[in-house]
Amino acid sequence: SKLKIGLLFGGRSGEHEVSINSARAIAKALQSDNNQNKYEVFPIYIEKNGVWQATDIAQHVLDSAQPLSSDTATPQQLWQFPPQVTEIDVWFPILHGPNGEDGTLQGLLELMQCPYVGSGVLGSAVGMDKIAMKTAFAAVGLPQVNYMAITRAQIYSNPCVFPKLCDEIEQNLSYPCFVKPANLGSSVGISKARTRQELEKALDHAASYDRRIIVEAGVIAREIECAVLGNDNPKASVVGEITFNSDFYDYETKYTDGCSQMCIPAAIPSHISTQIQEMAIKAFTAVDAAGIGRVDFFYVESTGEVFINEINTLPGFTAFSMYPQMWQASGVSFPELVDQLIQLALERHT
Ligand code: ADP
Ligand code: MG
Ligand code: MG
Repeated sequence: SKLKIGLLFGGRSGEHEVSINSARAIAKALQSDNNQNKYEVFPIYIEKNGVWQATDIAQHVLDSAQPLSSDTATPQQLWQFPPQVTEIDVWFPILHGPNGEDGTLQGLLELMQCPYVGSGVLGSAVGMDKIAMKTAFAAVGLPQVNYMAITRAQIYSNPCVFPKLCDEIEQNLSYPCFVKPANLGSSVGISKARTRQELEKALDHAASYDRRIIVEAGVIAREIECAVLGNDNPKASVVGEITFNSDFYDYETKYTDGCSQMCIPAAIPSHISTQIQEMAIKAFTAVDAAGIGRVDFFYVESTGEVFINEINTLPGFTAFSMYPQMWQASGVSFPELVDQLIQLALERHT
């Protein structure tokens, strides 16, 4: 009989729409000729306000690609699972960002004792928090740009502390530097600071999103990504490059058509590609990722240096996203990729 796949999408993060598009592509792949008669899809949609919707409503969101928001959210409803939930064989959560990619949802699925695609609680949480992630990368010797971890309390608690903190950032990292909330994605809350005034503004802005903040030395570099697939013996795809005309790869550039281009495979020396693939697997293992992960790098062409930037444990998964495209270029088609992810979830659970 067919395996029932709980396709869980939407969610409370800023990447809600991307999630809907990822889920559409995955649902199509699960029902494609390649996976014929293997899978039955149960769409489960989490509204922006956190309300869970199953069956007809979820299917409608999938079909129409239009987000839905009922104004009936009550705390009880957030935990009221539709009856179909008990019949699901494997969960495929494809929610990006907080409350989906960060281990919270994975904890819930773990409690339900059901296999699910992707990283577990630890890998998801460490991969999402940029401070914890960088600590894990440093522990295995992965090269990174210089950075400082700070907290919201350091910014607001004592007015005498703040100027000293800024002095320290200037001394350690100089300008330009990047200020980021630790637990977001899609470049939300990230600013590039070139002056003291911009730094102060950037810290205030990042602190409006998260208690934990990271400040990094800015590099002038090409942005190279590598897709990783597997559990205990993960494999790396060919690497790809993202190019764009804006100052950095910010939210608007990421989600406006025509603002960025993908080049797969990246036109870089082969020894650099190989180095990046090795680093990607090392990074995947360092945070205890599983199944899926996209690892992003800075390649400084002038010096030949490669720095790891981050891992995304539930990367964008639309038909046009880097992760599936890099696998496509490595000989794994979109439907095969989805099939392998489900098999990896089953393997990990047993
Ligand atoms: P997110 O998880 O939101 O994607 P990133 O850490 O990847 O956050 O940062 C988003 C973008 O900001 C990067 O793709 C890059 O363009 C730019 N950026 C971030 N950090 C740096 C840095 N240290 N030097 C240069 N550019 C950076
Ligand atoms: Mg990210
Ligand atoms: Mg990024």
